[in-house]
Amino acid sequence: MLKIPLKEIKEKLLSSGKISEEDFNARIKAKINELSGLISEEGAAHIIANELEVELVSSENKKLTVKDIYSGMRNVETIVKVIQKYEVREFNKGDNKGKVCSILAGDETGSLRIVFWNDQVDLISNLKESDILHIQDSYVKEGFNGRKELHLGKLGHININPSGVSIGEVRQTNTFERKSIQDLQGGENSAEIMGTIVQVFDPRFFHVCPECSRRVVESGESYTCAEHNEVTPNLSYVLNLVLDDGTSNIRAVFWKDQSNKLLDKTESDFGNFKDNIGSFEDVKNDLLGEQFILKGRVKKNEMFDRLEFSVSFVEKANPDKEIARVEEVV
Ligand SMILES: [Zn+2]
Repeated sequence: MLKIPLKEIKEKLLSSGKISEEDFNARIKAKINELSGLISEEGAAHIIANELEVELVSSENKKLTVKDIYSGMRNVETIVKVIQKYEVREFNKGDNKGKVCSILAGDETGSLRIVFWNDQVDLISNLKESDILHIQDSYVKEGFNGRKELHLGKLGHININPSGVSIGEVRQTNTFERKSIQDLQGGENSAEIMGTIVQVFDPRFFHVCPECSRRVVESGESYTCAEHNEVTPNLSYVLNLVLDDGTSNIRAVFWKDQSNKLLDKTESDFGNFKDNIGSFEDVKNDLLGEQFILKGRVKKNEMFDRLEFSVSFVEKANPDKEIARVEEVV
């Protein structure tokens, strides 16, 4: 069964004009009684939609906007814009060896995670923020925290930057909950913190394969990827700093894209820092005392027994917005 929230089924039925709100509520109750409570409200609503011959989801194969995509759907076609590409992760569980990469993408109606496995990861190796993806024959699974997750599957197709297609500003539907740093416990997947930068460390540099973004092995002048052999690598880096919000402080980890955002720098700027790390001192000094909002995940670093904030989005704190936010909360 498709996982359509009760509220949305109700909206669709009411807008069909075939039932009033009062009748809908009464009929849900009656249906649950009739089936001795063995059915959820969503299940009852599905049956009522069926009885009223209201199509909750179009059966024609047409392009769906993100808001109309539900867990359980197959043969989904959609066009989305990339918001963020996450690191490629490799796994090795017994005979089960492979890699997985996910991205956050969306359109004007919402956002969702798209997951790519194994060979599919290579299809998106050069994917950048704001690239447009035309996806066909994908399926939708319920992911972490009940969020919908698009999978390409064996039959899926992906077309990157098809001509003549554009998408406006993406409506981000995953919400990050504002937290005080002292309340973070580790394991939060979408937390937001705001604070002042009190310490900045030098970036650490490494090289990655341009094909698959995995780290390469360096020997003398040559770089070798486990899968793509000898390659001319791209530069990658990670920057750590400490953010303090008055309740406590936490080490925040910025991978390449977020480091570029934080400092408004490019890969070639970081190449210069690598060659002359002394020139990074000014950047560090400029960052100290600045206020930022960070969105991302909180992880426990077992080796150092401390929490770390892995940054997915960074923006400068805007005092006016902050005042408005606090007033709203109060
Ligand atoms: Zn490679």
